[in-house]
Order: sequence, then structure tokens, then C-alpha cells
Amino acid sequence: MEWIIREVNGNAIIEPTEDKECHFCKTKLILHDFYPQKSYNFFHADVHLKCPECSWWVTFGVPISEADFNKLSRSKYAKKPLTHELLELGLKQVEKRLKTFGYW
Ligand SMILES: [Zn+2]
Repeated sequence: MEWIIREVNGNAIIEPTEDKECHFCKTKLILHDFYPQKSYNFFHADVHLKCPECSWWVTFGVPISEADFNKLSRSKYAKKPLTHELLELGLKQVEKRLKTFGYW
């Protein structure tokens, strides 16, 4: 499974590059929260994905670079539950910006 760091409203988040399905009801999982961690010289993020239908959630330990660790640690989205609405808002703003630049 691949992961990507991307910016939402100028703050970094980490998410899977491919949709993940709920183990039980096959609904697309959403990013619930992420915790950037440093243990000795090893950097990783504990990422929790949640099913919006049945509330099943799953934890992934994702190895990241020190640079990504710093980016994620500075992010205002780190270490707290993210609402789907918040992330949708971020996407819409990115889309709007791209439209302004004539990409759409
Ligand atoms: Zn489910």
C-alpha cells in the first residue's frame, strides 16, 4: 500500500494513494487522524482510517522521511480527528485555485 503526503489549506496530511475498502461493508474508508512519530532515528506515522458507514477503523504504521515527519508535525491537522467535510473543503479549494489558473 502506497501513501502520499499532500497539502490541504496549506497543511500537510498523509493518505493512501488508492481507495481502501471497509473490511465488513466495502464502503470507502476515510482518513480519521494521523500521528507523526519519532522513535530513535526512525520516523513513521500512525494513520487511522475509518468506515463512515459502520465505524470500523484500522491503523497503519507508515514509514516516512524526516522531512515528511517535520511537515506532518507542523500540520494543524496532525493528532486530531479529521472530519470528512474538512477534507472535502480542502479539495474544493484546491479545485477552485486550479480553475483560477485555467487548469479546468
Ligand atoms: Zn464498514
